[in-house]
Amino acid sequence: MNETGTCMRSFLPSTAVLELTYKCNHACRFCSCPWYGGMIKPGKEMSVDEWKQCITELCEAGITSFAFTGGEMLLKDGWEDIVHHAASLQAYHYEEEDGAIVCKRKRPSLFLLSNGKIMSDRVLDICKMYDANLSMSLPGITTFEQHTCGGTTPEHVLDWFIRAKEKGVRTTAGITVTSENYFELYETVAAALLAGATTILMNRFLPGGRGLTHRELDLTTEQIREFPFTVEKVLAQAGRFGSVGTEFPYCLAHDSRNLKHLSLNTTCGAAKGFFVVGPSGMLRVCNHSPRELVHWKQWNTLMEHPYWRQFIFKDYLPDACKGCTFSGQCDGGCREAAHVCHGSPTAADPALAAYTELPLPRILPN
Ligand code: SF4
Ligand code: SF4
Repeated sequence: MNETGTCMRSFLPSTAVLELTYKCNHACRFCSCPWYGGMIKPGKEMSVDEWKQCITELCEAGITSFAFTGGEMLLKDGWEDIVHHAASLQAYHYEEEDGAIVCKRKRPSLFLLSNGKIMSDRVLDICKMYDANLSMSLPGITTFEQHTCGGTTPEHVLDWFIRAKEKGVRTTAGITVTSENYFELYETVAAALLAGATTILMNRFLPGGRGLTHRELDLTTEQIREFPFTVEKVLAQAGRFGSVGTEFPYCLAHDSRNLKHLSLNTTCGAAKGFFVVGPSGMLRVCNHSPRELVHWKQWNTLMEHPYWRQFIFKDYLPDACKGCTFSGQCDGGCREAAHVCHGSPTAADPALAAYTELPLPRILPN
C-alpha cells in the first residue's frame, strides 16, 4: 500500500527486460550477454505460448514496461505474436493526477531493441501501431564492422533511423563506447541524431559475455571521465537529449553529473528499476548478470533469494568504498561488471580496481 492508499501489485520493479532468444546475427566483441562468455549455459528457449503466459502474469504483478531484446529479438520465431500479446494487455500504471496517485489501466509501454540487421517496414509498422520505442545499436561509424564482426553496415542502420523518423516511430541509438571507437564518438552521435534518432543511450564498455575476452576495448579512466562531455557537446549543438545506461562510479562522474543534455546515473537499477527474464525463463537482476535466480513461475519467491535481496537492499558496496561520504548516492559503479571481473558483486568496479588504495572518494587528479 502506498501513502495514498493505492495498492501496489507486487514488490517487482516496473520494467521487465525480456531476452526472447539466445540467437544473434552479429558477433559484437563488446557484447555482455553472459551466455556468450560461458557464464550461463543456454537452456531450452521458451515457446511463444510460454512467453505470453509469462508476460500476462508479470503484467498482473504490476509490470508496466516490457523491453524486448535477445540476442537479436527479431530472430525469435513468433516475436510478433509475443509483442501483439503484450500490447493487448492492460497494465496498472500509477500516475500523479492533481496531487494524488491514481491507477490507470492501459497498455504496457513497449520497447524493442535490435541490432538493425534484419530491420523491416513491418517492424516499424508494429512499433508505430503500439507507440513502441525502437532501439538500434550503432557502435561507431568507421569502426562499426570491427566491433560487430561481420554484422551489417552503419549506413544500413542509419537508413532505418531515417525511415523510422519518416513513419513517426520513436527511436533510440544505442552507442557502446570502447577504446576503439572513442576517437569517433562525436561523429557517431552526430550521425545518429542527423539520421533522426529521437534519443541517444550511451553505454560505457563493461567487461562481460564476449567482452570478457576483448579487454582491449576497455576505456581508460580518463576516457570514461571525458566521454560524457563529448556527447553533451553534440547533444547541445543539436538541442537534443540522451542518457548513459551503464552506471558511473561517482568518483568518475563528479564533474559530469549535472550536464544539461546528457543524464547519467551513479546508482545501480538492477532489481530496483528493472529485472530480466532470460530466454529459458530464468530471472536475473540485470542483463549483465551471470547469476540465474529462479524460473519466472517462482517470481514471488525472489524476496527470499539472497542474491535478489543483496541488490534490493544494496548490500554490495565494495569494501574499498565503505566510509565514502558519497555512498548514499553511489553504488561504487557497476556491481555486475565487478562480479564478472572479480567474482563478487561487492568487488570494485573494473574502472576503479587499480585505484582502491587512493583516499575516499577517489576523485582522480586531472
Ligand atoms: S569511493 Fe566508491 S562510493 Fe565513493 S564515490 Fe567513489 S565509487 Fe562511489
Ligand atoms: S549491474 Fe547495476 S550498475 Fe551494472 S549495468 Fe546492471 S543495473 Fe547498471
